[in-house]
Amino acid sequence: MDNRAEYTPKGIAFAPSYECPGGCLHCNIPFDRIDAKAELDAGSAARALREAKAMGLHSFQFVGGEPTLRGDFMVEVVAEGRRLSMKPHRPPTNCATAARPEYLRALFARLKQAGFTAGFRVSCDEFHGRVPPESVAAFIVNAADYFDLTRFAIGCCDKNEERSRGRLERVARAMSEMGLESRVGAAKMETARGDIKLGFWAPTRPTWKPLPDSEFVFREVNAGAGASEAPGRGSPAPITRFGCLGPLGVGYVWIDPDGNARACCGNANLFSDKLIIGNIHAEPLAAIVERASHDPVISLLAEGGPVALAAETGLTGLLEKKYTHRCELCAAALNA
Ligand code: SF4
Repeated sequence: MDNRAEYTPKGIAFAPSYECPGGCLHCNIPFDRIDAKAELDAGSAARALREAKAMGLHSFQFVGGEPTLRGDFMVEVVAEGRRLSMKPHRPPTNCATAARPEYLRALFARLKQAGFTAGFRVSCDEFHGRVPPESVAAFIVNAADYFDLTRFAIGCCDKNEERSRGRLERVARAMSEMGLESRVGAAKMETARGDIKLGFWAPTRPTWKPLPDSEFVFREVNAGAGASEAPGRGSPAPITRFGCLGPLGVGYVWIDPDGNARACCGNANLFSDKLIIGNIHAEPLAAIVERASHDPVISLLAEGGPVALAAETGLTGLLEKKYTHRCELCAAALNA
């Protein structure tokens, strides 16, 4: 295999734990084989953050699991990031912690004091069976006392946009009843404290549990097309060559609760242990990234994503099938 492109993480992502009360139907976290109680300690994360900064990475994010369950971790890492002049991205949340308003408000106050202004990426769709729309509403209404809501986003991961909009209407109604006048617009949740951007997309099919095909949108692979090639009218965009781990990609080095470093923050990075590139408890981050930059599989993903990986490792049969996302093809190629 050629070694043509270099692994180029854009920042660092921390999974303080995979614990999550959401139980979302389409979740990509393989709860059948991970230890959801394992926790990354904030001191190790802060050290990795300093190492990331020294490597020229300037942003970080929280992933999970539900990050707001680990409030102390978030506050400590945000404070260290501020000290280092690193930019935090909006953490995702399913808003389940709104069931504990005193805890949540104390967390918001501490995050604000630590200099956090990034807002949150709020999840809201019908797959979130255990998190009622009222919790989403309460999270946002409480957050409005501490943060600028225009920095927030609400993401609905469901192939059926109308189903998501029905849920959003319930959220808006509950927010209005809680005293924050709100309505659902075409692209924004309009509130009396500023508009929140809305996003709609279809989920990636998890590889760790069976779900009906009817809940997903499937895409063909076009191995010859460039990443920017436009899809045909009415059909979902094909999966094309896109160097997700390379200089033009979007990848973050992802730190698991046990300290394992994964090469990317993609939807399927947990679907294959072949994306584990080291452990921050065992060696410096710079050594981990340096080794990964010479790894032939990681380099193929940096060059042309999973399309290149499948095409150039003799797995061309995989390119004949349909997938919900490039990361699903990636998992198929890595686990073949
Ligand atoms: S395609 Fe693979 S390497 Fe690229 S973002 Fe997805 S899981 Fe990561």
